[in-house]
Amino acid sequence: MEKQNIDWGNLGFAYVPTTYRYVSNYKDGKWDDGALITDPNVTINECAGVLQYCQQVFEGLKAYTTKDGDIVTFRPYMNAERMIDGAARLEMPSFPKERFLDAVDQVVRANADFVPPYGSGATLYLRPYIFASGPVIGVKPSKEYQFRLFVTPVGPYFKGGAKPITICVSEFDRSAPAGTGHIKAGLNYAMSLHAHEYALTHGFDENMFLDPATHTFVEETGGANFLFITKDGKVVTPKSDSILPSITRRSLVEVAEKYLGLTVEHRPVRFDELEDFAECGLCGTAAVISPVGRVVAKDKVITFPAGMEEMGPITKKLYDTLTGIQQGLIEAPEGWIRKIDC
Ligand SMILES: *Cc1c(COP(=O)(O)O)cnc(C)c1O
Repeated sequence: MEKQNIDWGNLGFAYVPTTYRYVSNYKDGKWDDGALITDPNVTINECAGVLQYCQQVFEGLKAYTTKDGDIVTFRPYMNAERMIDGAARLEMPSFPKERFLDAVDQVVRANADFVPPYGSGATLYLRPYIFASGPVIGVKPSKEYQFRLFVTPVGPYFKGGAKPITICVSEFDRSAPAGTGHIKAGLNYAMSLHAHEYALTHGFDENMFLDPATHTFVEETGGANFLFITKDGKVVTPKSDSILPSITRRSLVEVAEKYLGLTVEHRPVRFDELEDFAECGLCGTAAVISPVGRVVAKDKVITFPAGMEEMGPITKKLYDTLTGIQQGLIEAPEGWIRKIDC
């Protein structure tokens, strides 16, 4: 298929509508057969559950072109499972895993002309989500839902190399102390926006959320998990019930152990331990790892030894290995790469 005439190297991270999206509706206790459609707009009732009580979960994953020219997705069954977990927590029906994978394959195949070519640095971002479409006014779960999956081509995350970012620790919390931050839901993002805007207007790139009950432990940013490297080369990732289980972070942990022979600790990380670490990174689908150069709290500035110039050496190895696996340059663990027949 002939590719779209797009300047792949200069795409940003913005919504570009493509030709097809996949939609399935849930009514009378079951999902309909689902279909690819061309209409990018959703028409819903003014009293739809998503508009009143925020029943919505979403996912984010990417399709890539490998060195051999195949179009692949990375561990999409992990997204399917996470969406089922999140839907259950918000009293929404689960979209079956096999159907999720089939929808991913169908949408990517139908929009193959929007999948950026190998070497462009760009990727096709996939956004599956479920929202309550039926009317509710009394507080209760909706009886009707829509699963929708659209795609949009996104540019290379790091233009001109990965420069370390600065992070602030504002006074604004995201999730309640009970901990609901482990769900990939729009409501958690809504709760993170104020802290994020505060960070941006004060000259930072991101906000670090601490545990809301004690403000002692590191959680994550609005959309990415932390990963630290100790001075003796161990990988440390924060453990908490209110951190979103990042697929990138879990993949990097496996890469650290199995490909690089590093020791990994998954444990609560106190904020006051930060100054003992050699490297710090943020991980998520969008950037894989963004290096962090500095963290600024009210009474403290922590600068990681690798500093503000480049990625730390171990962060770089993790980044190169995982992106190498995704691009087909390094052999992937069993089941990590799902090829889409186009
Ligand atoms: C999506 C997300 C991440 C990153 O998860 P990946 O599966 O690696 O993309 C981290 N934190 C939050 C809050 C998220 O929503």
